[in-house]
Amino acid sequence: MKLLEELRGDPRIAIAGEAPAAAEGRCVLYWMRRAQRAYDNPALESAIQIANELRLPVLVYFRLNPRHPHANARHLTFMLQGLEETAQELAKRRIGIAMRIANGLGAANDLARIAGEVRPAAIVIDRDPLKPLDAWRGMAGVCGGRPLYCVDADMIVPAAQLGREHYAARTIRPRIHERLERFLQPIGNRAVRVAWHAEPLADTVAPSAAVLESLEIDRSAGPVAEFPGGGAAARSCLRRFLRDRLPRYASERNRPEKDATSGLSPYLHYGQIGPHTVALAARDAEAPEEDRRAFLEELIVRRELAINFTIYNRRFRQIEGCERWALRSLSAHRGDPRERVYSERQFDNAQTHDPLWNAAQRQMVESGWMHGYMRMYWAKKILEWSRSPRAAYEVAVRLNDRYELDGRDPNGYAGIAWAIGGKHDRAWGPERPVYGMIRYMSAAGAGRKFDRRAYLARWLERPLSEAFK
Ligand SMILES: Cc1cc2nc3c(=O)[nH]c(=O)nc-3n(C[C@H](O)[C@H](O)[C@H](O)COP(=O)(O)OP(=O)(O)OC[C@H]3O[C@@H](n4cnc5c(N)ncnc54)[C@H](O)[C@@H]3O)c2cc1C
Repeated sequence: MKLLEELRGDPRIAIAGEAPAAAEGRCVLYWMRRAQRAYDNPALESAIQIANELRLPVLVYFRLNPRHPHANARHLTFMLQGLEETAQELAKRRIGIAMRIANGLGAANDLARIAGEVRPAAIVIDRDPLKPLDAWRGMAGVCGGRPLYCVDADMIVPAAQLGREHYAARTIRPRIHERLERFLQPIGNRAVRVAWHAEPLADTVAPSAAVLESLEIDRSAGPVAEFPGGGAAARSCLRRFLRDRLPRYASERNRPEKDATSGLSPYLHYGQIGPHTVALAARDAEAPEEDRRAFLEELIVRRELAINFTIYNRRFRQIEGCERWALRSLSAHRGDPRERVYSERQFDNAQTHDPLWNAAQRQMVESGWMHGYMRMYWAKKILEWSRSPRAAYEVAVRLNDRYELDGRDPNGYAGIAWAIGGKHDRAWGPERPVYGMIRYMSAAGAGRKFDRRAYLARWLERPLSEAFK
């Protein structure tokens, strides 16, 4: 049981309950939530460690919830393409998987049901960064006295080590960097000692996009060809990025027409690739140091600042989650006359007067992803052309979550809070109409930074796809 004691001392793992005992269980159950991969997954590895120690098999449980907000055909197809591959890889590792469709009675009820059926000695879950730090403890009650392990699987520095809500990259960066050597390590993929060999459970479905045919889901945002889901696609995206784009990342990442960024955000969002895998590969890549540093700043510092925001700030989906100085300033300008006001429908249909904004919206609707520089411009213009900052915030969150494959993510909520509510930013003078002290972006300024004609040609002048008709 020495190993189980060691897990207790691991800062990536929080535990509710006593040490597990083999005699009381038939497996270790890993409820896979966000880290939807079979390799380099700290939560799965913890489950394997516990199971090996107890000489038990591992069963992965996945709860597919078609009623989750914005769980439309686009998101679900991408996710299930990934899960199909994950199931095959788990089988190769001799680990079982049981996927069930949520039955409307809630996650706790579904977990209690499967735990009652497979009688695990311990239950492991990966942390959901959209929930408060200790929210997972609420699940402990339904585990029937079995210990519950919550593992930080999709961040490099454990969330609890960063302590509180940070107000800017400059305050969280030193805390992250101090801990990187310790936590930025290969995860390791150990062999399981005991294979899962039980009969399939009742009411489970094989993970595959075909499942969607029989489900009532929102089909208004359809699947996209640009981003095939899955770990293999993620790894090939990473290889391409390291070879062709990383060596020009620092100078070209803010040029939407250049394709210099990784395009990994959908894969990171669904945990089809983990941040450790990406960060270690970029750190050790043959690319200039300046490029590697710029990329790791986004992947680690900015990404974990966003996670810190959603873990510690309960109002991350609302404008109220932004800084007080920003709210005061926006409020002082709430009555300013707007040159233009668009409805949500006009935004959604890319029907503004601004071709650059419309091109960005079309990139998102048609491909499921928008370039990062355009995301800033996109959200700031929604602020400028909405009847109020609150309306702008709500429209930006809805469109982002609906269409972006990486939507419903801490990065999206932090990005919108930054663009509209000054989150992680500072006050900018001179004060402007509508924006107040919020940092401003103009079409002319954006046009000077990159070749806007090339971007417009790609996204505005091509024929409309089905998504827009
Ligand atoms: C208004 C707005 C909305 C956004 N919505 C989302 C969203 O829904 N989902 C999402 O993942 N990101 C979002 N971002 C953050 C960022 O724009 C994207 O993560 C990035 O553009 C994704 O492209 P990439 O994978 O090629 O990034 P790369 O430049 O290759 O960066 C690698 C990874 O680092 C992380 N990263 C990069 N930039 C940021 C950033 N500014 N903040 C936090 N993490 C970052 C992402 O995980 C990204 O995949 C948003 C930003 C803004 C301003």
